[in-house]
Amino acid sequence: MDRDSEGRRAELAANLQQVLDRIARACEAAGRPAGGVTLTAVTKTYPASDVLLLAGLGVTDVGENKDQEAAAKAAQAQAAGVRLRWHFVGQLQRNKVKSVAGYADVVESVGSERLAEALGRAAQTREVPLDILIQISLDGDPSRGGVVEDDLWRVSDTVTSSDGLRLAGVMAVAPLGWDPDRAFGRLAVLAGQMGERYPGATTVSAGMSGDLEAAVRHGATHVRIGTSLLGMRNSLR
Ligand SMILES: *Cc1c(COP(=O)(O)O)cnc(C)c1O
Repeated sequence: MDRDSEGRRAELAANLQQVLDRIARACEAAGRPAGGVTLTAVTKTYPASDVLLLAGLGVTDVGENKDQEAAAKAAQAQAAGVRLRWHFVGQLQRNKVKSVAGYADVVESVGSERLAEALGRAAQTREVPLDILIQISLDGDPSRGGVVEDDLWRVSDTVTSSDGLRLAGVMAVAPLGWDPDRAFGRLAVLAGQMGERYPGATTVSAGMSGDLEAAVRHGATHVRIGTSLLGMRNSLR
């Protein structure tokens, strides 16, 4: 390893330790078992070399929000013999579903029946079903890609009626200006209802660099961390 990547590795290792400590403290404060929360490293805008370094440090799950970028990194990881769980977390256009279904293990950002149907068709040729999280728009604004609460069960049923898909749970981003406890508290109620309707749909993806503690307090099983792990991104995305 050259000196630059050695330095980057040390930086990522230190950041990772801090994030894991935050998660562990949040679990303890919530009376939850350590290890009940999976870290998804959101590597968008950062190079594949960072993904490989994180994998070497023990990270198992990575998140990306743009198909082209994700596809390239997934291919590089595979070429390097590194097996990771790839989470697609961004707004997804229907003309990209075929590509995403080719490398993703989880699509966290399903917010419409049409997208669920398109993913179902694209996933039919997969060996294992594609895990799906329904993204919920907690403030009822559908413009950022989630379903409003009234549509949650309709979209969920579309997922469960598709052979290539497995309904795995819910995802949300705390709406801007909301108290994260309010947001993730509401998400927990909906996640509980989903678990009753669809046993097996137990994933709750919530919490980012700024609000992971609140998410863990309200039952998140997965936190999606970018900035605290990899550093500030240049562009707002
Ligand atoms: C970028 C992104 C994250 C990570 O956010 P940070 O604040 O950098 O930790 C999490 N979830 C989604 C959907 C994202 O797009």
